[in-house]
Amino acid sequence: MLKEKVALLKEKYDLLIGGEHVPSESGEYFTVYNPANGEAIAQVAKATRADVDRAVQSARDALSNSKWARWPASRRGQILNKIASIMRQRFNDLVELEVLNSGKALSAAKGQVMQAIEDFELYAGAVTTIQGHTKPVPNGFFHYSVKEPVGVCAQIVPWNYPLMMTAWKVAPALAAGCTLILKPASLTPLTALVLADICHEAGVPAGVINVITGSGADVGSYLVEHPGVDKVAFTGETTTGKDIMAKASDTLKRVTLELGGKSPNIVFADADLEAAVNGSVYGIYYNTGQSCEARSRLFVHEDIYDAFIEKFVEQTKKLKLGDPFNEETHVGAVISQGQWDTIDSYVKLAEKEGARVLYGGKRPEGEEFAKGYWYMPTVIVDATNDMRVAQEEIFGPVVVVIKFKDEKEVVKLANETMYGLAAAVWTRDFGRAHRVASQLKAGVVMINNPFSAFPGLPFGGYKQSGFGRELAIESLELYMETKSVLSYVGPKPLNPFGV
Ligand code: NDP
Repeated sequence: MLKEKVALLKEKYDLLIGGEHVPSESGEYFTVYNPANGEAIAQVAKATRADVDRAVQSARDALSNSKWARWPASRRGQILNKIASIMRQRFNDLVELEVLNSGKALSAAKGQVMQAIEDFELYAGAVTTIQGHTKPVPNGFFHYSVKEPVGVCAQIVPWNYPLMMTAWKVAPALAAGCTLILKPASLTPLTALVLADICHEAGVPAGVINVITGSGADVGSYLVEHPGVDKVAFTGETTTGKDIMAKASDTLKRVTLELGGKSPNIVFADADLEAAVNGSVYGIYYNTGQSCEARSRLFVHEDIYDAFIEKFVEQTKKLKLGDPFNEETHVGAVISQGQWDTIDSYVKLAEKEGARVLYGGKRPEGEEFAKGYWYMPTVIVDATNDMRVAQEEIFGPVVVVIKFKDEKEVVKLANETMYGLAAAVWTRDFGRAHRVASQLKAGVVMINNPFSAFPGLPFGGYKQSGFGRELAIESLELYMETKSVLSYVGPKPLNPFGV
């Protein structure tokens, strides 16, 4: 599809501060590209620290001056529903802009935009669950607790699910009555900017949502340190998450972190072979493997190893790469040349470490792949769990296959990683499925299916995959403080010292 046909594409995107589109203080812009062909598609304002100051002030003013936080929760819910309804009307336009800016397959983008919509609908309903409590206290006293928005939130999102990750953060924050400054990834800021406009169109007051675009290392980092920010919600790499946690500690901000993963996919000998193969192929190559929960360590029982691998490669070969706008495409481009180089260097490292590239490991052949950032779905075998390729997040379409002998061994291997985001188990033995699920150190476990994220189900990590949960009704709690109010209602004045 020609970029000229993408309805929501503009030549230039400015910052959004206090409900106004404004250029950055420096007047500078940076270019964003279409990863499928490497062509420039738009100019985006490059924020400075002074712009961050203005955005934080705008969010602080909106917190105290606008009625957003003080509206009945159900009224915020109506606006969240309106946001979802406008997104539904512009569904195809949002999908096309996402595909153009991310290079992902249309089919993947459709599912993600739909999930973003459903997320707003989820929290539109969830606002009605916000409530305080009253507790029994001694005679003459009365207690109640109330929930209040945590305040101004910095929300920093990555490039792999640009709109969906934004919705995961914006929807609960708005539901809770917070105001926010959104910092999309520099590679993929477009749909987040459009979403902020939709929020205003739906009735979110000016200043409640502000968008800062520009370098994470510069303005993102400054935002995290900013004394005017009360909470940081971050999704991205584990190393960035550690930096953010350290910087946020100076002002003791609330922090939630959704970080990287190296998720195990365990196939027992009694699994339904066809379902396990197809689910495992999807589990790694969906979104071109650029998923935090990609099942990138594939553990296969020795009794079915040869048969499984043969079928896995056979199915992988059937995946269609190519024009991301084609409905039939399964695997799109990778996000950038930098990411392509990282993926390729890991594949070369695998060979140095003694593993073997059974399939892929290079740019696909053909003229349509000459431009842009394309990498073949890749299968690495003869690997062991201690290799770097089995321990480090590659974040591309590369699976590392490891053979195992028994349940005890595979549980140990699966848990031998610094990450703990997701895990999948394939077996027909009901007892084993749940026994293994209970031992896996992962925030999300899939049994006999490859799907990890549905609106309403908690999503987040153990260990160095972060903390806090998104997508769930209880995620609202992470955007609220609890205030406990104890009052004296007795008939005589109190005299605690008795003096
Ligand atoms: P990064 O950590 O590089 O960047 C994520 C965001 O943080 C971007 O907006 C980036 O801005 C910004 N940023 C970068 N450095 C800093 C900093 N020092 N301070 C503040 N903000 C900063 O991650 P990627 O964009 O490369 O995303 C891929 C990662 O995200 C993978 O590790 C993946 O596993 C993880 N992820 C985790 C998910 C989960 O739910 N657990 C879901 C999706 C992804 P800029 O773009 O300008 O550099």
